[in-house]
Amino acid sequence: MRRKKNGVRKRKTGIKVPDEVKVPRSDTPQIMIDLMDQYTRDECIKIDELSEYAFSYDLDNDLIIINPRHPQYEEENYKHVLAHEIAHRIDHNEYGSPMYVEFAEAIKNTENKILQKKEKYQRRLAVNGDLEYNYFISDIMSCITDNVITGVYRHESQYIGKPGYAESEIFADIYAALYQSDDITVEFIKSELPELYEAFMKVLKR
Ligand SMILES: [Zn+2]
Repeated sequence: MRRKKNGVRKRKTGIKVPDEVKVPRSDTPQIMIDLMDQYTRDECIKIDELSEYAFSYDLDNDLIIINPRHPQYEEENYKHVLAHEIAHRIDHNEYGSPMYVEFAEAIKNTENKILQKKEKYQRRLAVNGDLEYNYFISDIMSCITDNVITGVYRHESQYIGKPGYAESEIFADIYAALYQSDDITVEFIKSELPELYEAFMKVLKR
């Protein structure tokens, strides 16, 4: 997610989200499938070779910005990252996750809980750990703990320290993970982060 001032909203960019990104899991809640369909119908992707991120959501213009010349573009897990950016779009237009006190509280409580088992999680996310390449879990744990527990994928502390930003990132990660990630990731969220999972589901059904 990024904020951009003085942007002019452009309706037609010519680029839609590819269908291959819109492949939900068999247990993805219907409301998530419907919202993903709704927010990927229009031409919401814009190519910007000057963007400071490889992938981002520009909330002022309601567009997903891709910079194919960005050094991280090739490294990013394309489908996961794109689903994450669409989830930002859904959050911004439908929910506003940082406004939900219960969601913020669940993040805080989960932080306290997982920091007590910091070494265990850190080992799993580290090189040769079973979650070493897990995009979603790495970013979720990093955002919850302000990078105390972290893996390959994360957001800078400077960024997630801004009010509401950690909530937005965690919402986007959980949404995208429950939509299209593997069983290990979904099971991890449900069993290791149960309060956060419940709080997410409550926001979803608000
Ligand atoms: Zn994000």
